Amino acid sequence: MITGEATGSALVGLEGSASGVRYPADRLMGLDPADGRPLLPRYDLGAAGRTLTRAALAARRTGGMWRWRELLPVRDGRWITFLGEGSTPLLAAPRLGRALGVPGLLVKAESLNPTGSFKARGMAAAVARGRELGATAFIAPSAGNAGGALAAYGAAAGVDVIVVMPVDAPRDNQDEARVHGARLVLVDGLISDAGRVAAALAGPLGAFDLSTLKEPYRLEGKKTMGLELAEDLGWRLPDVVVYPTGGGTGLVGMYKAFAELEALGLIGPQRPRMVAVQAEGCAPIVRAFAEGADHARPWAGATTRAAGLRVPAAVGDALILDALRASGGTAVAVGEDAITAMQATAGRLGGTYVSPESAAALAAVPELRARGDLEAGDRVVVFDCGTGLKYAPPAGLPAAPVVDPSAVDPRAILAG
Ligand SMILES: *Cc1c(COP(=O)(O)O)cnc(C)c1O
Repeated sequence: MITGEATGSALVGLEGSASGVRYPADRLMGLDPADGRPLLPRYDLGAAGRTLTRAALAARRTGGMWRWRELLPVRDGRWITFLGEGSTPLLAAPRLGRALGVPGLLVKAESLNPTGSFKARGMAAAVARGRELGATAFIAPSAGNAGGALAAYGAAAGVDVIVVMPVDAPRDNQDEARVHGARLVLVDGLISDAGRVAAALAGPLGAFDLSTLKEPYRLEGKKTMGLELAEDLGWRLPDVVVYPTGGGTGLVGMYKAFAELEALGLIGPQRPRMVAVQAEGCAPIVRAFAEGADHARPWAGATTRAAGLRVPAAVGDALILDALRASGGTAVAVGEDAITAMQATAGRLGGTYVSPESAAALAAVPELRARGDLEAGDRVVVFDCGTGLKYAPPAGLPAAPVVDPSAVDPRAILAG
């Protein structure tokens, strides 16, 4: 781990994703002042490439996602509060893969991050960089996992955190935020309503707003999923990446990572077909993709048990749609019953206890096979973005018998 020293970050500026306007790197910024669209950090990739080589990476055995420090925005390692984020395994899932029609299925186990989801990567980067640029308090709207992760990194850094969640966000996420000492505000509404409440509170409370893609630093942490994917697979990207998409930062971040890796000469021009998976009850990106639109219209009446996918309007919609189209990918929606059934199927077939979001991504695989968007021999990576342990369990699990310890009847239990 790097502490108390220059990280070697090659950050040179921020750039408007739509406007192309360049801004200085070392000023705390939110959205592009030119057009209110997301800002993207830009790096001197020539400089980064001098130290970020395959050999250098191989020698960096610890540090998780911070092994990629040249391509991250934090300049001084003293701001980093490392909780173990990143370096998650890419797991073979042969029993589950056979059942889904892709025997070589690989699962990126983001549930093994601290706080149980990939949100840890984004919040680790954003809290560190925000503090480096002078922020002393942070606020974020969250469907669940982002709030838990922000609270954990805020606690590690010793700064104030306010988390704004829809009142029906998973109970465990609410508890997680409070255990970490965050102030939790519940909103009778959707994540978009929580976003409006957070925006209203940010100024008066002096807190930096970490809403998805409304600031440029979380994306950089999430980008490390794509960097790791290339390294995990011996510097050859998979044929297909299947990603459960809410705000889409993970997907957009990975696509950005691939471009940076190519510029560094670490991979070639080949890209995986990027597949965004949403729930039928909230599928604005799927609808926009099918319509050939550049932007996604807000989804009315969003409902799904997959809390992280209940995002009716994504700030990064254009960036998501760009990545899907440029990569030859697609977008697919799956039903609630398929999500619930897949949690049980994945659990039974060695795919771990996945969140409803991850189950949605897995449920898309047979659907993509049926449509001809996937071949059995394709190298497919599904992102298990978060653990199922923080959600109400899937319906339909068998009841457990309660046994009188003084009169155990094995036959009755087996027949049960
Ligand atoms: C946040 C979240 C998602 C959606 O991720 P985005 O990158 O915002 O699209 C998917 N799954 C889980 C478990 C999440 O917490």
